[in-house]
Amino acid sequence: MVLENVRRYDPDGVTTLGERAVVLGGSVAGLCAARVLADAFAEVVVLERDPIPETPTPRDGAPQTRHPHAMLEARRATIGDLFPGFGERLLEAGGLLIDASREMRYFDGGDFLADPPDRFPMYCASRALFEHAIREGIERLPSVTQRGGCRFTGYGTEAGDAGRRSADAGGRTVTGVAFRDERGDPTTLPADLVVDATGRTSRTPSWLEANGYEPPPVDAVEVDVTYSTIRVDRPASARHAIVVPPDPPRTRGAAAIPIEDGRWEVILQGLHGDDAPTDREGLVAFAESFPVPEIAELVRDREWSGAGIDRYPFPASVRRRYDRMDRFPDGLVVTGDAIASFNPIYGQGMSVAALDALVLHHALAAGGLDDLAPRFFDRTASIVEAVWRVAVGADFAFEATDGPKPTGTDPFNRYVDRLVATAHDDGRVTDAYYRVFRLEREPTSLLRPAVLWRVLTP
Ligand SMILES: Cc1cc2nc3c(=O)[nH]c(=O)nc-3n(C[C@H](O)[C@H](O)[C@H](O)COP(=O)(O)OP(=O)(O)OC[C@H]3O[C@@H](n4cnc5c(N)ncnc54)[C@H](O)[C@@H]3O)c2cc1C
Repeated sequence: MVLENVRRYDPDGVTTLGERAVVLGGSVAGLCAARVLADAFAEVVVLERDPIPETPTPRDGAPQTRHPHAMLEARRATIGDLFPGFGERLLEAGGLLIDASREMRYFDGGDFLADPPDRFPMYCASRALFEHAIREGIERLPSVTQRGGCRFTGYGTEAGDAGRRSADAGGRTVTGVAFRDERGDPTTLPADLVVDATGRTSRTPSWLEANGYEPPPVDAVEVDVTYSTIRVDRPASARHAIVVPPDPPRTRGAAAIPIEDGRWEVILQGLHGDDAPTDREGLVAFAESFPVPEIAELVRDREWSGAGIDRYPFPASVRRRYDRMDRFPDGLVVTGDAIASFNPIYGQGMSVAALDALVLHHALAAGGLDDLAPRFFDRTASIVEAVWRVAVGADFAFEATDGPKPTGTDPFNRYVDRLVATAHDDGRVTDAYYRVFRLEREPTSLLRPAVLWRVLTP
């Protein structure tokens, strides 16, 4: 499922279902989940191990906040519904709204893609500002409390109440959480529902294993990618973005995104051991190796600002198959990167987090808390599936990529190579391609007759 086939948010769709919900993790997935839970619970408490920043600030608990984040259409549309005024707040704080059809240049398959005919609105800002603008939306909800400096340590449970919720007949129901509070003291908080949004380091799999459940099966696809990010000065009149994804045999990729305070964020990526350097001289040489001069011009010729080079290693895309578990405790669901995290080159994680929240909203509206976990995991599996196919499928264009390859990946990749070559001259094909990458349409939309005909006609 992508944006076109997930129903939009309905503010009147959910009635009150309980006294308190607790969200673990106050990053993008956690804040989006808290937003939809506020419709269903008298009180929502978000527990975050980092202090809650009052200004747009990168956080140690989510180190990727120091790297550029593209906001795809699936997220732009969903966030606009969930947090009215989000776009206005972002622009007031210096974020930009660009038309990606004209102001984003995309170099792939040996040339730039032709401009698509329609506008593609895209917000650009630092990841810290994106998160801050969402947090400001949360702060307007009186029933939601964010508690920083609170570290989740485990779930509280009791024997399952199979009569009320039958997801785990005879098993356990999560009835609350244990955590270390702002002073470091161990404490507990009862809850009717707990949402784990603690990202890739989620403890739920090990907690399940320690409590008599099988952990979720895991699909891992190794890409061994490293990121180096810098910020450089940007004249006020320059608003464009540029993306140069890795393209076999070139294991290097790069992107530059305009952000607030007159800067571009420039990210350089290297796959399969072709590490992006962490020293200035090495990074300039790396940037000069690209087939287009724009990346080197930014890295070598513009003034650097801020913290120097930020590095992030990302060994593997990981998908935890909660949808395949036979037993799962009641009173608990998992969302965002804690379910699946993808090679960030494709910029999809925040969009998936937003779509997960939308699915949680519809799952609560349709059946309340009864069998919530299996119903929710079934639907998130369809979201992850579409994204996984695009991200992991593209990674398998490199022979060194290791892991379970989705069926049909190789012929699909060959078709996409041809599609990209056609898109060098045909903006309508670029349009179709962008809509898949922006998670507006399913990957299968690239096989619609109107696209197929353009790609396959010599
Ligand atoms: C280098 C990089 C670049 C990326 N670029 C993009 C992009 O361009 N576009 C895009 O859409 N996505 C991108 N992503 C993905 C995106 O960052 C995530 O998908 C998004 O942040 C949603 O993640 P999340 O909220 O599920 O988890 P996270 O953002 O990882 O947040 C988890 C939160 O849980 C907290 N936490 C963890 N453990 C505990 C605990 N025990 N107690 C309390 N709190 C805890 C953490 O402090 C953190 O705040 C990128 C990721 C990386 C690594």
